[in-house]
Amino acid sequence: MKKTFCLGGVHPNDNKISKNAAIEVFPPIETAYISMAQHLGAPAEPVVAVGDKVKVGTVIGKPTGFISGYVHSSVSGTVKAIEPRADIAGNLVMHVVIAVEGDEWCEEIDRSRDIVRECNLTSEEILSKIQNAGVVGLGGASFPTHVKLNPPKDKKAVALILNGTECEPFITSDDRIMRERPVEILIGAEIMMKVLNVDKAYVGIEENKPEAIASMSAAAKDFKGIEVVTLKKKYPQGGEKQLIDAVIGRQVPSGKLPIDVGAVVQNVATSLSIYEAVQKNKPVIDNSVTVSGHCMDVQHNYLVRVGTPVSKILEVAGGIPKDAAKIVSGGPMMGKAIANLDAATVKANGSILILSEEETVRKPESNCIRCGKCASACPMGLEPWLLNKLARVGGRYDDLEKERIFDCIECGCCLYTCPANIPLLDLIRINKAEVMKIIRGRAAKK
Ligand code: SF4
Ligand code: SF4
Repeated sequence: MKKTFCLGGVHPNDNKISKNAAIEVFPPIETAYISMAQHLGAPAEPVVAVGDKVKVGTVIGKPTGFISGYVHSSVSGTVKAIEPRADIAGNLVMHVVIAVEGDEWCEEIDRSRDIVRECNLTSEEILSKIQNAGVVGLGGASFPTHVKLNPPKDKKAVALILNGTECEPFITSDDRIMRERPVEILIGAEIMMKVLNVDKAYVGIEENKPEAIASMSAAAKDFKGIEVVTLKKKYPQGGEKQLIDAVIGRQVPSGKLPIDVGAVVQNVATSLSIYEAVQKNKPVIDNSVTVSGHCMDVQHNYLVRVGTPVSKILEVAGGIPKDAAKIVSGGPMMGKAIANLDAATVKANGSILILSEEETVRKPESNCIRCGKCASACPMGLEPWLLNKLARVGGRYDDLEKERIFDCIECGCCLYTCPANIPLLDLIRINKAEVMKIIRGRAAKK
């Protein structure tokens, strides 16, 4: 029997309508808008000035804290401005704006597609290369990878798990890289195994990606200790805690991290970035982005330079369809509406989804009928109906904290399953942010 996680989950239509679109290199852009907030944690600080010449791979932002990262130019040209600009969510973030001139790369980057497997670097040297290349988690969380691969001394990893589930409907960028670049992904895994000092790695892939399973399984025959695990299709299997449960049958307790059960999870796209950083000296300057939607004539997977405006991507992809009602960064379950089409992509943007009016319309909300479907669907064992009730009363932040609102991974299973169409996820998101503010306030007073 195929493996999956135990608690909750739902089965939305996977809509992988872009799965046969091979990755195309996105055409050159005129201006790159590179955000200094490419990662979770403190934004980077610009280290270039207006008028500076940069190449592809030049460092333009340096980390400002332990959880922070380097940012590199994704284009060659002249720095035109360093200014706050609205990101995809509409928040003002410092950007380095570069007028593109040609396509000149830093000399140390190996641009050939020759595959380099041998790696004689020490773990410390590998971590340093990963950090200097600005590698972050590309599964959505954007956590700086060098930090995640360097767990505290008292925690021992026993297995690396590569996340190839891509369980969000519509998105196929990971599917494509697993089909097109399996060996490079596995070399990235081999490098991580060395750093973590583990002899076992798994690649979890859902059953709806048979070509990726075949391609990764064939490549894995040459890699000792790396096993491809076919998983039953169930959302949100790509959640770290759900994937660990599905693949190695260990449950990460509330408030604990994967490393507490001996697991380190990395996305397959991150593994590819690690390969490029360590074996090719290539910083993260581009990433694969799915551009998909039923209202589009043609589906795409592009290799896009970081800092490409969303509006440019949509223009090249065929323009915004007449019946488009909502443009989303990510998938329909966890993605967020793009508030500003002039905003530019960051490293972890893996998908732009175009939804029609019909696909976005919310049915009218009615009263909770206490059916318990939301609780059955919740993969974190929460009671979404109760969180909703407490949120609606207002001010019950202590109770929300006790009911483990922080365990919510914002997967949207509760909202998906609720027959009363209660906007459970929206309410939980807003209240999580409020509880976080209170906790930060408490900590500041101490
Ligand atoms: S969004 Fe949160 S509360 Fe709702 S099902 Fe997912 S984890 Fe549970
Ligand atoms: S699924 Fe909706 S109606 Fe059913 S208990 Fe949960 S909130 Fe209430």
